[in-house]
Amino acid sequence: MSTTSKTQTLPLPTENYETAWNNILKIIKDNISLQAFKTWFEPIEAVKLEKNILTIQVPSQFFYEWIEEHYISLLRKTMMRELGKDAKLEYRIVMEKNNGKKPDTTIDLPNEKTGNNKNPDVNAPAIIGGSVKNPFIIPGLKKINIDPQLYAAYTFDTFVEGDCNRLARSAGFAVAQKPGGTSFNPLVIYSAVGLGKTHLAQAIGNHIKNLHSGKTVLYVQIEKFANQFIDAMKNGHINDFIHFYQLIDVLIVDDIQFLAGKPKIQEIFFTIFNHLHQSQKQLVLTSDRPVKDLQDMDERLLSRFKWGLSADLQVPDFETRIAILEKKMYADGIELSREVVEFVAYNINTNVRELEGALTSLLAQSVLNKKEIDVELAKKIVKNFVKSVTREVSVEFIQKTVCEFYQIPYDKLKEKTRKRHVVQARQLSMYLAKNFTKNSLKSIGKHFGGRDHSTVIHSCQAVQNMVDTDIAFKEEVTELEKKISMSL
Ligand code: ADP
Ligand code: MG
Repeated sequence: MSTTSKTQTLPLPTENYETAWNNILKIIKDNISLQAFKTWFEPIEAVKLEKNILTIQVPSQFFYEWIEEHYISLLRKTMMRELGKDAKLEYRIVMEKNNGKKPDTTIDLPNEKTGNNKNPDVNAPAIIGGSVKNPFIIPGLKKINIDPQLYAAYTFDTFVEGDCNRLARSAGFAVAQKPGGTSFNPLVIYSAVGLGKTHLAQAIGNHIKNLHSGKTVLYVQIEKFANQFIDAMKNGHINDFIHFYQLIDVLIVDDIQFLAGKPKIQEIFFTIFNHLHQSQKQLVLTSDRPVKDLQDMDERLLSRFKWGLSADLQVPDFETRIAILEKKMYADGIELSREVVEFVAYNINTNVRELEGALTSLLAQSVLNKKEIDVELAKKIVKNFVKSVTREVSVEFIQKTVCEFYQIPYDKLKEKTRKRHVVQARQLSMYLAKNFTKNSLKSIGKHFGGRDHSTVIHSCQAVQNMVDTDIAFKEEVTELEKKISMSL
């Protein structure tokens, strides 16, 4: 609201942005559902309008990402209509820390899609440090103009330490303290996907930028490097290309496994690598496998990769996974019960990216359905994430579930008794064990007091016949199947 005197005739900046935003909202409201409008647009506050750049304040990082993903083209069109074709959008994010101690913090984020920035990694948050410049269109290349292509969010502070990453993290930290001045050159960080290579490599870059502002840092994905190289070849700018990369003090190259089987790109990379290494410049490389397992690579290049230190990132253990979730929740201003956090951390145990994905889905579901996030909701969401992972229940678990259901003592399944209800429970347990586990018939038989495989086959057939003919029994089987798959 404007607090200025009413005698002013020209619209004041505050009135400008409020009017502009209200006009934009009117159009948006006509174009999306009321529910969507209430959820995603009513909480937004416009905060300023300067030179066609409208800044809006959103309640959380998640909220910002959601808008970018779902409403940006509508928002852009509407803004251009209201503010002209050069209109740009910036976000400000309120960090809700929930503890009431910290004042609200705001971050200005350049807009990925309406602004000039190109996001080199689709999974990464917004870029810091102004617009990204294409190295080839900077006339009279000056060092100072090189944008490091780093993300503010990828720092050591946000990279949770655990046994899984201690060596890589501390080597990275040492390199960041003294770039080019340790024996960790190159520093090679390797791991399977989603375990933090890009995050850690970027954290090194960000830390160097903070400590040594004079150093020219550049993060590049090798694929992008390769494309730049191909363009430079086409346009006859190969010398500019090499010259550009030789200016860098700290070169961070992500996903070098992409070099495999590309001799021309390996060659140019070799040239640049040698130049930088000889000038005591720092190289940080990431790879999805250890250097010795990289295939179709020039031996000279491989031997150089082995000069420094290789450190891997492993799957974080349960406690570290909890710590990672808690850190992300804090950063996004979300609060979840300990029970939910533990459930997610326990069940998603292969990949940090999936862990984050589950957190985002949980939040989205709870916002959209106005539902509290409890373990039930977490269960549903987590299922979508672990589907691809082969998980199995044990034969014992199936036996116990069946016994509990029919109220039969567990040991009876292994005995020779021919009592009808015990026989049925035994046969049904075998049938479920065959369908839910990868055990051989022989090994299933062993779990039932050492029965042989033909008994197991016979049991499975008997159950199948009953399922086909007895509706009440079929319902019991379905219920048991549900119980077992819930535990998966
Ligand atoms: P990679 O490059 O190995 O595929 P990323 O660096 O992209 O993996 O990590 C995937 C996601 O997991 C990122 O959002 C990253 O911030 C997060 N992440 C990975 N390891 C950690 C960690 N130790 N602490 C906090 N976040 C992590
Ligand atoms: Mg990566």
